[in-house]
Amino acid sequence: MHKEPNIQKEMGFYLEQRKKILAMHYVDFVIGWDTQTDAAENSILANSEQAAVISEMSYNLTTDPEYERAVGVLYEHRDELDSVLRHEIEVVYKNIADTKKIPVEEYMAYSELSAKAYPMYVRAKNENDFELFRPYLEKIVEFCRKQTVWLATDTVKGYDVLLDMYEPHYNQAKYDKFFNVLRKKLVPFVKKMTANPTEVPEWTKQTFAKEKQREFCEYLRDVMCFDKSRGIMKESEHPFTSGFGTEDVRITNHYYEDSLVSAIFSAIHETGHATYERQCDPTLNGTFCSGGASLGLHESQSRFYENIIGRSRAFWQVHFGKLQQVFAPQLDNVTLDDFVAYINRVEASFIRTEADELTYPLHIMLRYEIEQKVIAGELEVKDLPKYWNRKFTEYFGITPPTDTLGVLQDVHWAYGNFGYFPTYALGSAIAAQLYHYMSKDFDVEASLKTKTTKKINAWLKDHIHKYGASKYPDEILRLATGEDFNPDYYVEYLINKYSK
Ligand code: ZN
Repeated sequence: MHKEPNIQKEMGFYLEQRKKILAMHYVDFVIGWDTQTDAAENSILANSEQAAVISEMSYNLTTDPEYERAVGVLYEHRDELDSVLRHEIEVVYKNIADTKKIPVEEYMAYSELSAKAYPMYVRAKNENDFELFRPYLEKIVEFCRKQTVWLATDTVKGYDVLLDMYEPHYNQAKYDKFFNVLRKKLVPFVKKMTANPTEVPEWTKQTFAKEKQREFCEYLRDVMCFDKSRGIMKESEHPFTSGFGTEDVRITNHYYEDSLVSAIFSAIHETGHATYERQCDPTLNGTFCSGGASLGLHESQSRFYENIIGRSRAFWQVHFGKLQQVFAPQLDNVTLDDFVAYINRVEASFIRTEADELTYPLHIMLRYEIEQKVIAGELEVKDLPKYWNRKFTEYFGITPPTDTLGVLQDVHWAYGNFGYFPTYALGSAIAAQLYHYMSKDFDVEASLKTKTTKKINAWLKDHIHKYGASKYPDEILRLATGEDFNPDYYVEYLINKYSK
C-alpha cells in the first residue's frame, strides 16, 4: 500500500532545519562583515580554518537528504501552504534541484579554477595584459556555457538560464526590449550631451576632511530616517550594505579627501539598500523570505534614493545650506545651482563604476551584448578586447587606450558572473517606473521640504519593501505599479532631466 507522507512531521523537520541554516547564515553574515570592516589581514588568514568548518557545516545542512526529502514533500503539497511559505518552498526546491544538475566533478574543478582565476585577473588588469587572464576566462566561459545546458528547462534556455539566476523571470526577450529602447532613443541623446562636456569646476579641487564628510553622511542618515539603534555605519574599501532581518542592517562607506561627493552619494545609495532591508515585514524575520527580492529590485531602491532623490534640485534646496555649514568656509562661494550642475555633470568616460547617471546604462548595454554573443558561442574570448573597443567607440565616441580601461575593468567575469550586469541597469529603470507612479500619489519634490524622506520611505515600504523576498521581483513590480517592467519611463525621465 502507498504510504502517505506525514506532512506535519516533514513540516516540523523543515522548520527546525531552517532555524539551523539561518543560524549559519547569521554566522556568515557576522564573519563577512567583520572581514570587510574590522578584522586585520593576518587574523583573517589565521581564522580561515574556522571559516572553512563553518561553511562545511552549512553545506551539510542544506544537502542533508532528510532536509531534501522534507522540501520535496512540502513542494508536492505546496497548494496547502500559506503564500509566503509556498513561495519559499518553491525557491528552495528549485535551488536544491539546480545544484544537483551540476556534475560534482565539474563543480569541484570550477571552484578550483575560480580560486586561481581571480588573482590572475587582478594581475592582468594591473599589468594591462589580457593574455594573462585569457586562458582562465576561456575556461570560465566554457563552464558558463555548460551551465546553460545543465540548468535549461522547457522555457528557460541559453543565456536566459544565467539571467534568471540573478533576476528571476527576466530573460533576453525582456532585456532586448529594454536595451533596444536605450539604443534607439538614448544613444543619440547621449552623443549630443557628451559632445561638449563642461569643465570640472575649480571649487571641487580642494581637500575635504574625512571627519566633515563623515559628519555630513551621518546627517544624511537622519534625513533618510535611518534607525541608528538597528544599524551601524563603518568604513570599508568599497561601500556595501549587509543585513540580517529587519533588526540588524549595516552599511559602509569610503571617504576620499579629494572628492566632496563620492561618499555623499555612496551614503545615500547604501542607506537606500538599508531602508529596503529595514522596511520588510518583520514577520518575515526567521524565514528565507526576509531581505530584498532580487538584485535588480534592490538596486532600484538604492538608485531611486541616490539618483532620483539625491541628485535632484529639490533635495539640495533643503540640504545644501547644511553642506556649506559643515564644510565652511570651503563652499562659501558656491551656489546651489553650481552644486546641482556639478552633481549632474555628463561626460563620456571609460569606467562603468565612475560613470554618470546618463551614460551609465550604455556601459551595461555594451556588456549585455557581449555576454549574449559569448554565451551563444558567437564571440570567442580571444576576440573580446577588440570587440569591446569597437563597440565602445560606437556608443561613446571614444576608444579605451588600454584593456585596463576597457575589457579588464570589471571583476564580474573573473567570478563567472555572466548575467549579473543587466540587473544594474534594470534597477535604474525600475526606479524611474516607481517614480512615475509615486508622483501620481503625491508631490515627491514638495515632500522633501519636510527635511526628511519619510513620505517616500512610507510609499516604498507599502509598495515594495513590505513584501521582502516573499514574492518574485516581477510580481512585486506589478503589484506596485499595475504593469510589467516598462523601460519607457526611464528614457523619458533621463531625457526630461538632462534636456533642462
Ligand atoms: Zn547598490
